Amino acid sequence: MICFLCASNDSRPFLKCGTHDLVQCSQCGLIRTETFTCGETAYEGGEYFNFKNQYVSRWNEFLSMFRTLVAKIAIHRPPPARLLDVGTGVGALLAAAREAGYRVTGTEISPWAAAFAREEKKQAVMTGTLAEASLKSGQYDVVVLNHVLEHVGNPRDLIVEAKRVLADDGVLVIGVPNVASLMCALRGGRWVSLRPEEHIWHFSPATLRALLREIGCNEVAFEARENHAPTGGRIKALIIRVINQAAVLLERGEAMLMFARKQMDHHS
Ligand SMILES: [Zn+2]
Repeated sequence: MICFLCASNDSRPFLKCGTHDLVQCSQCGLIRTETFTCGETAYEGGEYFNFKNQYVSRWNEFLSMFRTLVAKIAIHRPPPARLLDVGTGVGALLAAAREAGYRVTGTEISPWAAAFAREEKKQAVMTGTLAEASLKSGQYDVVVLNHVLEHVGNPRDLIVEAKRVLADDGVLVIGVPNVASLMCALRGGRWVSLRPEEHIWHFSPATLRALLREIGCNEVAFEARENHAPTGGRIKALIIRVINQAAVLLERGEAMLMFARKQMDHHS
């Protein structure tokens, strides 16, 4: 397997996760699932990695999570603005964004999820990849790629296309798991966000920044938070809270969220 970021095929072992081998590119440090077999066609089936019912039954939970994300987006580009969510699933982020006053569109490669978003939630969702949607250049003020890059064969091609459909001062929003997180260091192959059966690429703050730099986007904000709120008794919750704070400060929280602005091409 070849590293999409630097095109090297030289790697060293990183972690074993179940039956999968994760390796680290010797040249650029990007981690990948060397034994990845799934392929993007997997999303076309009805299973959608067996989470179909969960996405629908936990709609309110997702909606509330995405309201938080939309509030963060609004800091960088407040509504009304044109927002595109790539890989929108059943459209919960679109619902939260529309409620906040954005003009929203989505793309989704799972036919059942796209149909659910259109029919049940009345969202403007195109079935297929972003490239297949053949959108006009400069059409959107915000493009969201939330937990998408780690799933696709070539994240660079996807970001380049996302940048093309962004307006000149548009904001790109990228969410990916952080393989350099404390949780991953602590749990190793048992860290829940590795999911090697679905995730080809495992980004760290360094490799995500390398990708954005290369395609010509300027970072405007970055955070790496923990996914889960502290639970358990007072002492345990306090310890978790301290660890979470440290993880955020060190950019070692589990979930990375990057806001970037498109660089104007006339510089180059
Ligand atoms: Zn590489």
